Amino acid sequence: STIEQEFVERHPSSRAQYERALKDFPSGVTHDVRYLKPFPIYVERAAGCKKWDLDGNELIDYTMGHGALLLGHAHPQIVEAVAAQVRRGTHYGAGHELELEWAERIRELKPSCERVKFTASGTEATLMAMRLARAYTGREKILKFAGHFHGWHDYAIPGEKLPFTQEESPGIPRAVFETVVVAPVNDLDFVDRRLAQGDVAAVILEPSGASWASIPLPEGFLQRLREITQRHQTLLIFDEVITGFRWSPGGVQRLAGVTPDLTTMAKIVAGGLPGGALGGRADIMALLEFREDADWNSRRRVSHPGTFNANPLSAAAGCACLQLIADPGVQQHADAMAARLRRGFNQVLVQQGVPGFVWGESSVFHIALGHTCANQEGRDIRVPEGVAPEVLKAGMSPRLALALQQAMINEGVDLFHGGGLLSVAHTPEDIDRTIDAFDRSIRRMK
Ligand code: PLP
Repeated sequence: STIEQEFVERHPSSRAQYERALKDFPSGVTHDVRYLKPFPIYVERAAGCKKWDLDGNELIDYTMGHGALLLGHAHPQIVEAVAAQVRRGTHYGAGHELELEWAERIRELKPSCERVKFTASGTEATLMAMRLARAYTGREKILKFAGHFHGWHDYAIPGEKLPFTQEESPGIPRAVFETVVVAPVNDLDFVDRRLAQGDVAAVILEPSGASWASIPLPEGFLQRLREITQRHQTLLIFDEVITGFRWSPGGVQRLAGVTPDLTTMAKIVAGGLPGGALGGRADIMALLEFREDADWNSRRRVSHPGTFNANPLSAAAGCACLQLIADPGVQQHADAMAARLRRGFNQVLVQQGVPGFVWGESSVFHIALGHTCANQEGRDIRVPEGVAPEVLKAGMSPRLALALQQAMINEGVDLFHGGGLLSVAHTPEDIDRTIDAFDRSIRRMK
């Protein structure tokens, strides 16, 4: 039977739920990335690095809450912290001690975050960072890099998807596109020249390179970008929504020793519950302060409401999580498991003589199929050599991506976005089972 037939046969309950979902949601899904043909999988429960679907199939998970679950699903200390808080109430409409502890843990891990504000998501954090930068500098434009993802608000859309030159998107006013400058992939000379015009408020980027290191940055890139932005009095925003506590307990900024003016966080920061944060220089964050000045408060102050800002449940999960991930042993374990996986997948491709390569850094991996790179030697790859950025961003054709996702689910592995993110709960045995699943899947796809 084909991969898809087997997929359909193994998941009758997911199929039934999907038929129901089609009446609830456009295309039956609640996040674009969860869209899968002929239907997505419905999950019943999750623990550690595993989840189980409605038909009782066990999956080794590499979606890991879209990267939020560095500690794995249902970590006992997070479950306990949330359970204790839920009994005390879920929303006070007032300050509470956990929001202070949460901010203090962030400030300790990232000293660049002199002041912090909490949001309900990463999208809200990047929106606020851009607004603050515009208010602080009195300039209107934001420079972002082709392929970098900053959420789904209007200013985050230009230049993210292929082709990177996209100049419109339904529902987003043309005027918005005019305030966002998209720099070609990793082109610092372009950035230097563009900032010299003096109208760019901030440069925002994923400090791992686009889409969690799928298009890696060259050596010294962040240091040079810091120097360029400083020279042009343009603010530098690190979008550390993925990397903030994964690349190291203090994110990329602590690892690379480069200090941004503003940092956006989400995912791991809230321990698997909804939440985000923005941190940065006190003088920039001061634009959010109230003053004894009616004109300031009504016309010049940057406003920040948000019903679920610093929600007590998210704060409880976030505090428990940040306490645990402050131990670099957590990241070291996840990193080692990811390196083992990348190496194993590359060995499979080389042994089977299939064009493709697997790459990444920290605890993430990306898969390209149908393309070759100059340094495919069946080992771990951080930077694929001689590959166009468009290929790195896409990874593979939609046809191959679908076949691989289905085949891997049949083999008990749930990939994410043509790759995946690991956790401290993944063991060498899980990785080796995943490599075997990849070996069988690639064989089936031939
Ligand atoms: N920035 C980056 C780098 C992300 O990866 C994401 C989400 O995947 C976001 C921003 C948006 O965060 P959220 O999905 O919480 O709105």
